[in-house]
Amino acid sequence: MKAMRVHEYGKPLKLDEVEVKKPGPKEALVKIEACGVCHTDVHLAEGALKTEYFGGKRPWILGHEIAGNVVEAGSEVTDVNVGDTVLVDAWTAYTCGTCMPCRTGVENCCINNTPIGFGKDGGYAEYITVPAKALIKIEKLKPQDFASLACGGVTVFRALRKAAVTPSDTVVVYGAGGLGMFAVQLAKLMGSTVIAVSRSAEKLEMAKKFGADHVVDASKDPVNEVWKLTNGRGANVVLDLVGLEQTLENGLKMLGVLGRFLVVGVGPGPLKCLPDTAVNFELTISGVKVGTHKDLVDLVELAKKGFVKPVTTQTFKLEEANEALEKVKKGEILGRCVIKP
Ligand code: ZN
Repeated sequence: MKAMRVHEYGKPLKLDEVEVKKPGPKEALVKIEACGVCHTDVHLAEGALKTEYFGGKRPWILGHEIAGNVVEAGSEVTDVNVGDTVLVDAWTAYTCGTCMPCRTGVENCCINNTPIGFGKDGGYAEYITVPAKALIKIEKLKPQDFASLACGGVTVFRALRKAAVTPSDTVVVYGAGGLGMFAVQLAKLMGSTVIAVSRSAEKLEMAKKFGADHVVDASKDPVNEVWKLTNGRGANVVLDLVGLEQTLENGLKMLGVLGRFLVVGVGPGPLKCLPDTAVNFELTISGVKVGTHKDLVDLVELAKKGFVKPVTTQTFKLEEANEALEKVKKGEILGRCVIKP
């Protein structure tokens, strides 16, 4: 099969001919219909995040937002059949199952994890062989529309769940890329008032279409804007999807009393907060590491019921993966783009 692999960090991916792995008894072979291009892929391709850190070695295939059709199932596979359209839970497919996080229901924090597309071959390819337990049937949902639930979608879903968002909350979604579009929709679904913050007028326009009640230009004193929009109460929840010093600082300042700050975007930071601020406002600061298998199963359920609209706006051929990564890096993609092998 054809696959786009990282050979050297910082160099373009190479189109390689790679052998298709025959599924073992508990595995399934999936013909990939779509693979989302996540900003983390840029970090991986550049070596800011290394596959070696996740137990992998080069060359390896990038891509962790994978959806497609089952074309072969191992002898012990019972819950998916040939022909099923599935989403691959790339993050928890290879969790160890024995470490403390795995045994206590937070396998997204597995200490021996080798996630697909990070430590194992991913979805910038025609096929993938995966443990069948990582597959979630998506039925009539289109792979190219919903592949991104597997990382972009589930990460913000977990963040909003951790924040225990209620209809009386005002939620700030800081960053209006693919994650932002999912976050706006899901925060609305939880009944909250949503403020989207971004530097891009085009992305803010899109956030409005996905249901944001207010949009704020990040380059024009967004902290003050949020306090104005909340009538001096401050936001209840802020999702930082960016991770820059400026967004983290602004985000924290947007919060009112009992505010919950969710660190989602992994940028260079740092995250600085005076103890005084945290104490006086009784703030909660929480990190979010993708999501558990349950988070993703639940999110797929919401999508099947029509509560989550696709955020995919552009598709690329497998051979065009480098171009896609370049556009993602430059922030030129509205919502998400996917590779269609
Ligand atoms: Zn991702």
